[in-house]
Amino acid sequence: MRTLTFSGAAGQVTGSCHVLEWNGRHVLLDCGLYQGDAATEAWNERPFPVPPDTVDAVVLSHAHLDHSGLLPRLVRDGFRHGIFATRATADLLQIMLRDAAHLQEREAEWARRHRDRRSAEPLYRQTDVDTTLTRITPVSYREWFDVVPGVRCRYRDAGHILGSAIVEVDLADGADRRRLVFSGDLGNRASPLLRDPELPERAELLLLESTYGDRDHRPMAETLDELETVLAGAADNGGNVLIPSFAVGRSQEILFRLGELYQAGRLKQQMVFLDSPMAIAATRVYDGYQRLYNSRDRAEIREAHAGSLAEWLPPLRYSHTPEDSMAINRIAGGAIVIAGSGMCNGGRIRHHLRHNLQHRATRVVIVGFQARGTPGRALVDGARSLCLFGEEVPVNASIHTLGGFSAHAGQTGLVEWASAIEGRPSIHLVHGEPDRLSALAAKLRERTGRMPGIAERGQVIAL
Ligand code: ZN
Repeated sequence: MRTLTFSGAAGQVTGSCHVLEWNGRHVLLDCGLYQGDAATEAWNERPFPVPPDTVDAVVLSHAHLDHSGLLPRLVRDGFRHGIFATRATADLLQIMLRDAAHLQEREAEWARRHRDRRSAEPLYRQTDVDTTLTRITPVSYREWFDVVPGVRCRYRDAGHILGSAIVEVDLADGADRRRLVFSGDLGNRASPLLRDPELPERAELLLLESTYGDRDHRPMAETLDELETVLAGAADNGGNVLIPSFAVGRSQEILFRLGELYQAGRLKQQMVFLDSPMAIAATRVYDGYQRLYNSRDRAEIREAHAGSLAEWLPPLRYSHTPEDSMAINRIAGGAIVIAGSGMCNGGRIRHHLRHNLQHRATRVVIVGFQARGTPGRALVDGARSLCLFGEEVPVNASIHTLGGFSAHAGQTGLVEWASAIEGRPSIHLVHGEPDRLSALAAKLRERTGRMPGIAERGQVIAL
């Protein structure tokens, strides 16, 4: 049997997982968590596409939970072999999987207490994460590594978050060879710090992500101008600036951008707080991998003699403890606070919102995606008040949604990248919502003359 089965992130953007079967061996490309509404998250409890004890290896594209977050369950349910990841991904997983287990345990505890569901069990526990982390083999970019007999892989930089990779898969059976490429999540060339997505050598088969398959992002220059204007306005009015942000990737991007303004003498604020233990830990991982940054930003950072993002942005302070975080509430104005969660549905950003939203001088800067039903989305949609800690807080602050920050390639980036790969690969689209998948499919057909396939959950293709 030589097949590829689309299991997760088929017709949707979470739960990334594809099963490669090659002469009786099973390799998973990603093992991601389903995230979203309750119906989507219920998929996390379903049986794996193949029994975990028959999986021979896992090859991860990057550390985001929708690509890695089911690994501890796979291990708990009987997977006994190795997990391959780039070195930076391996370091980020330490932070992300532990945090995921912590959230799972807390939710199960809450369900036991408040819903009287005595049997509520977390999806996995810290002990499962500990075992998972011992199974990871870190590998370098651009080096072939053997996965199972007849299957070897090589990582190329995807430029999406630190450590993110495109996976080249070499399949061999005697003289018969095939090259499969899995794009993982492809980065946005306009993002700072990271490199542009690399081009694989060639491919016969390509699995291409489609998150923004129907559109291009707003130009970065416009977004940065808007950010600078908002920050200057807040400094003049004496208000605080709140930036809800995801801990890994977006927070470091924002720190770099604030540092650019500081280095150019254009940042008026004297205090920037990174108020998230997870974002602080992730920033330290970024600091340890400056060698992976793109050459332009690395040169700028080096010129400023900055060994870390904190040195690049001297007004930056790390808030580790809840007391550190609460102390920020006493600052009446002039501070920038970056805190999670990115969609304001949890984390420390909530108490900053509670203390600042009623002030006209406050600026809330939205730099990431806000899902329907979240407080962040309510702010974007113009809510007049927000319920925080059981209290209705009026929204007098101004809310600014900056559209240009994205860790994903837009439509043009996806089409350019895919059509530059040699070998005229047959393309299967994964990791996208239905309308975005069909828009990208139409565009690719226009460009390459061939209609790509749109992966369906459970669909099997012969290799
Ligand atoms: Zn991702």
